Amino acid sequence: MSKHNSNAQTVGSESGIRRRQFIGAAMGGAVAATGILSDVNAARSATRPDQDIYREVIQTPVVARYDVVVAGGGPSGVIAALAAARSGAETLLIERYGFLGGNGTAGLMTCYNGFRNQRPPEALQSVKGIPAQYIAEIVRLGGVADAVSYPMPVKHDITKGDIPYCVGFDPEAAKVAALNMLKKEGVRLRLHSCVAAPMLEGNRVTGIIAESKSGRQAIAADIVVDATGDGDIAARAGASVVKSPAKKSDLLRMTLMYRLGGVPVGSDKGAICIGERAVKWGPAFQGDGTDVETLTTAEVETRLKLWDQIEARRNKPGSESVYLMQTATGIGVRETRHILGGYVLTVQNAIEGTRFDDVVAISSNPMAYQGKRYFYKHEGFDVPYRSLVPKGVENVVLTGRCLSAEQDPFWSARAMAGAMAIGHASGCAAAMAAKSSVPPRKLDVKALQNLLLSQNAELRMGKRIT
Ligand SMILES: Cc1cc2nc3c(=O)[nH]c(=O)nc-3n(C[C@H](O)[C@H](O)[C@H](O)COP(=O)(O)OP(=O)(O)OC[C@H]3O[C@@H](n4cnc5c(N)ncnc54)[C@H](O)[C@@H]3O)c2cc1C
Repeated sequence: MSKHNSNAQTVGSESGIRRRQFIGAAMGGAVAATGILSDVNAARSATRPDQDIYREVIQTPVVARYDVVVAGGGPSGVIAALAAARSGAETLLIERYGFLGGNGTAGLMTCYNGFRNQRPPEALQSVKGIPAQYIAEIVRLGGVADAVSYPMPVKHDITKGDIPYCVGFDPEAAKVAALNMLKKEGVRLRLHSCVAAPMLEGNRVTGIIAESKSGRQAIAADIVVDATGDGDIAARAGASVVKSPAKKSDLLRMTLMYRLGGVPVGSDKGAICIGERAVKWGPAFQGDGTDVETLTTAEVETRLKLWDQIEARRNKPGSESVYLMQTATGIGVRETRHILGGYVLTVQNAIEGTRFDDVVAISSNPMAYQGKRYFYKHEGFDVPYRSLVPKGVENVVLTGRCLSAEQDPFWSARAMAGAMAIGHASGCAAAMAAKSSVPPRKLDVKALQNLLLSQNAELRMGKRIT
């Protein structure tokens, strides 16, 4: 029987049954009444109307098994899945939307930043390997934007593989480029599936539980890559978070991106432009992007505000042809949890450009520091492998926005080129761990670095380490 076609089984505790409690304090009866699960496998105990706890007893079928499951199909998850498959692992990529690309496509944030420093010193292209191949596929599809809003003093020729600091792109081309590459690499895909929880044995993650139109299904995995951006898997498995920023009110703000049509060519300098289409930054909202009520309020307020803003612009002379062509599928969430890993990247690391023995990626995107865009005097700081391994939880590798970092270096490393480089490392690590049955935290980092170098990743350390 092939690994990913196994028969349905029960995911269970000692009794063969998983018991969960859902506490609906915020929404009281509404959450209790809805629960999150109501498929045929859910056997429910009685609830009293005055209780705000709904107790469920659930048996979930295991519908597939993989070496590596990557949860989340954003820039880091796509590259992680490609890397895991290329490194020999049977790999599933699972995504809640019907397409891939994460905040780059669903969030309409259509410029990949951080392939090198924005300003000199910027001779080093710090993100290469599979992310560079992904850009080459977008170039092949004719999906590079005409203009971006980020100034870049030094010119590079992307058509020759010399990638500049920032690549503006057509989100539809980015979605297709991901599909083309994943298909070629043999990655299995499961779209329209929200990862609801990890499968757990003690603190060991043994797979994921997904909710979709097919109901609630478990998918077993040797290693799970948490590419949800919010660290959903690691957090629900019990991992701690980095306490930076100290207050939730200091989280980076969310922004609703949008696309205008009918913009006279060359007339909008603060946009990412393809012909007369211009992607722009819309209204912002401060709040916790892991709280559903906050997210709902954020969507309502920013969408209403944006409509009024566009109407006002259309009333200005010369802008009559402009119209709101598209808004992001969801508001762009910059920052939520940073999962606590074996090492927490610090602001000093970013300023000094600290080099680590266990480097697996480089982040050269500027960071926000003391309220300003901070440009490095070096070519980028190292991301150590330890920052991708959560403390206290086994068989999970973090990637992209989930990495273990303080807020300022996070601001840098979350940029999509860096997130892809981290994805490359996470995917390779997951495949190695799965294939060798060694937990991610005990992985031979030199062997991981050699694997990354063999796939043309940039680690600034020569072609072979040992
Ligand atoms: C407004 C805004 C502006 C930005 N500007 C730039 C910029 O100019 N340039 C730049 O490079 N970066 C920019 N960024 C940062 C960048 O977009 C993100 O940091 C980056 O996309 C992170 O990549 P990721 O793969 O880690 O996460 P994400 O892109 O967030 O992808 C996560 C993916 O996981 C999926 N997912 C999440 N939870 C689940 C679940 N439970 N089950 C199934 N699927 C799930 C999501 O649908 C998504 O596809 C910006 C971000 C925002 C919000």
